[in-house]
Amino acid sequence: MGLETAHALLVQIRSILQRFDGGGALASVDARRDAAISDIGLAHDIAANKIAELRGLLKANSQLDVLNSECAAVLRSGGVVCTHCTENHDTIHDERAKRTLFTASNGGYPQNSRLVKAWNDHLVSAAHEACIRAGETTAADPLGSFMSAEAKRQENVMVVLFRLVAFMAKHKLSLRLYEELVVLLQQSGVDVGDTDHSRITAREMNEVIARHGRGQVKEFISHRNKARWL
Ligand SMILES: [Zn+2]
Repeated sequence: MGLETAHALLVQIRSILQRFDGGGALASVDARRDAAISDIGLAHDIAANKIAELRGLLKANSQLDVLNSECAAVLRSGGVVCTHCTENHDTIHDERAKRTLFTASNGGYPQNSRLVKAWNDHLVSAAHEACIRAGETTAADPLGSFMSAEAKRQENVMVVLFRLVAFMAKHKLSLRLYEELVVLLQQSGVDVGDTDHSRITAREMNEVIARHGRGQVKEFISHRNKARWL
């Protein structure tokens, strides 16, 4: 082997060694990983800035901004409500939902000087977030939502009818009046449902109420009340 050939071979071997050198290859992988992490970090920052920018756009600066907001509505009384929360707050069984002031059932928020701040706070509140989620769930499952809405309606109807029977019992009214009073309620716009409108049912409901009342009395006198030491 000539000297030149040996030298060429040495250069070749060095080049191969450099290419497959563990440290070198790892350093290059590390560099690429660092670059990728830095790219991800940058993208994250850009996204966070974009979100903050969009939040800023959503944020109301004046009362007019609030009223023009996509999910704001004004009741006849002047109260401002959030449409997401008004539609969905009764479908979520969460204490947070009860804290919202922007629902039609509690009359909405008055258009006073605190409205803008209250609205902006509302938009980032847990209640608002939960109501939007509930709305999305309803949209994704219309049949299930309809069934639960109907069950809720039946429950409300039963509350009305039982309240009527209890009122009649309290004032010692004749059960014959039950049917007339149901009609009166219905004509006054109260949802009284489609069944349980006869005086015979009213008598049974009366019995249920009486049994429940007796149970409460029994519980009251047979349990120690720690608060009052009785
Ligand atoms: Zn809301």
